Amino acid sequence: MALNIVVCIKPVPDPAYYDKVSIDPVTKRITREGIPTIINPVDKNAIEAALQLKSAYGGKVTVITMAPPNATENLREALAMGADEGILLSDRAFGGADTLATSYTLAKGIEKLGSFDIVFCGAESADGATAQVSSQLGEWLGVPHLWNVFALEAPEEKQLRVKTKIENGAMEWEIKAPCLLAVAREVNKPRFISAMGIIKAKNKPISTWSKADLIVEDSRLGLEGSPTKAGGVFTPDLKRKGEMLKGDPEQIVEEILQRLRAGGISIDLDGSCEWGGGK
Ligand SMILES: Cc1cc2nc3c(=O)[nH]c(=O)nc-3n(C[C@H](O)[C@H](O)[C@H](O)COP(=O)(O)OP(=O)(O)OC[C@H]3O[C@@H](n4cnc5c(N)ncnc54)[C@H](O)[C@@H]3O)c2cc1C
Repeated sequence: MALNIVVCIKPVPDPAYYDKVSIDPVTKRITREGIPTIINPVDKNAIEAALQLKSAYGGKVTVITMAPPNATENLREALAMGADEGILLSDRAFGGADTLATSYTLAKGIEKLGSFDIVFCGAESADGATAQVSSQLGEWLGVPHLWNVFALEAPEEKQLRVKTKIENGAMEWEIKAPCLLAVAREVNKPRFISAMGIIKAKNKPISTWSKADLIVEDSRLGLEGSPTKAGGVFTPDLKRKGEMLKGDPEQIVEEILQRLRAGGISIDLDGSCEWGGGK
């Protein structure tokens, strides 16, 4: 007996480059060209959960993403963590997908893989952050699905006990495979990648599947298959100006204090701050 586990990972912009991410005012699409990506942080928790189950019961962990071609690097990182195989769903026809089209395409990729026991997702992405993809994917796949899983036990191979976060507390569930679980950051601590992991990852397979490799309805893909249409998009005008102060640290601090005082804010050297009438 062994578990067949699939983990959905989304490449998201590297936070170090967030200032370069913009929204095209005409197409209303997020412009990510040329911005390095990382694995969506909570998706690493999803990979970790899968790897822990694999080490308990044996089996295989496949990571899958719908993304541009350069996402092979993100898949390779997941393989270095310990996953066995990577699948990249990539085609121009998938571009501009909303959550429904994204989850549909992922479902078709997972179906092509054959049978599965557990599909793991992150609870939400760091960029789109709708938290919709996992539930939609569970529906497309026709399996029970739980969201915001922060504790996970597998007393038996295909029998899981999980806890999900809700607004005022938590809920406990027993769920049988096949199922889909969308995990929260608290569920575990993703492992560090070892040098051996990086070396092994070089020889692990990554396949790229385009539309032609999947059994899909064209009208459900990409922009055409996306009922969500972005409306007005605007960037708040913060009306701030930046100024570089020069000098040694003491001079700069004195200059900042003077400017704050001139603006009506008094700061004592013990760190307390008085603004208008209140402290
Ligand atoms: C009109 C419109 C146009 C858009 N155009 C684009 C576009 O051109 N390019 C673009 O990149 N985005 C585009 N988006 C955003 C895109 O729809 C979402 O980023 C995507 O559907 C995933 O949703 P999310 O980030 O909210 O995922 P969430 O639901 O917050 O993610 C939850 C989990 O689902 C899984 N997951 C989500 N997305 C993927 C994925 N792609 N592959 C594997 N696993 C995944 C991960 O495990 C993730 O942790 C557009 C959105 C709209 C509304």
